[in-house]
Amino acid sequence: MSAAGDRPIIEAGPEGGFALGPLDGLLNLARKHSLWYLLFGTACCAIELMQTGGPRADADRFGFLFRPTPRQADVLILAGTITYRMASRIRRLHEQMAEPRYVIAMGSCANTGGLFQGSYSVVKGGDLIVPVDVYIPGCPPRPEALLEGLMLLQQKVEREPYLRKIRGELPLPADPWPAGKECKE
Ligand code: SF4
Repeated sequence: MSAAGDRPIIEAGPEGGFALGPLDGLLNLARKHSLWYLLFGTACCAIELMQTGGPRADADRFGFLFRPTPRQADVLILAGTITYRMASRIRRLHEQMAEPRYVIAMGSCANTGGLFQGSYSVVKGGDLIVPVDVYIPGCPPRPEALLEGLMLLQQKVEREPYLRKIRGELPLPADPWPAGKECKE
């Protein structure tokens, strides 16, 4: 058995396996394999998001399950064009999710406004509304690209000092849309 930093060591034994490691690492091992995402999309990228949950990409095998309520979701996937009218709804859904919560911007529209960024009605990136953890390029990104983004998020979760985070010892990400600020900036 070798040391592996903060990562738990998983060994097979004669009567089943066991995991040994720092509590942070053991909790993160469980968390990274049970990231539930909110069943929510705003435009065509949402079709690829649905496909990622289907039998071909089969996101369930990594522990990514969709939840129809933000109160049980860990990940908000911004899948599609975001209009200013939708911005406050997205913000509300994000606030209804419990910490620790994560955001993935899926596709050009959610990253930068995409091919609609010159439009009067489209937000030029989801990170003007909520803090984004992972950006996935493409128009639309294929299910494989979304799976890769979800796996990058797993790596982030795995490295987090989780206990310090839930004790409130770490600063929260900067709020991109504090009260009184326009998300058009
Ligand atoms: S990035 Fe492309 S596929 Fe995705 S919502 Fe925008 S236009 Fe549609």
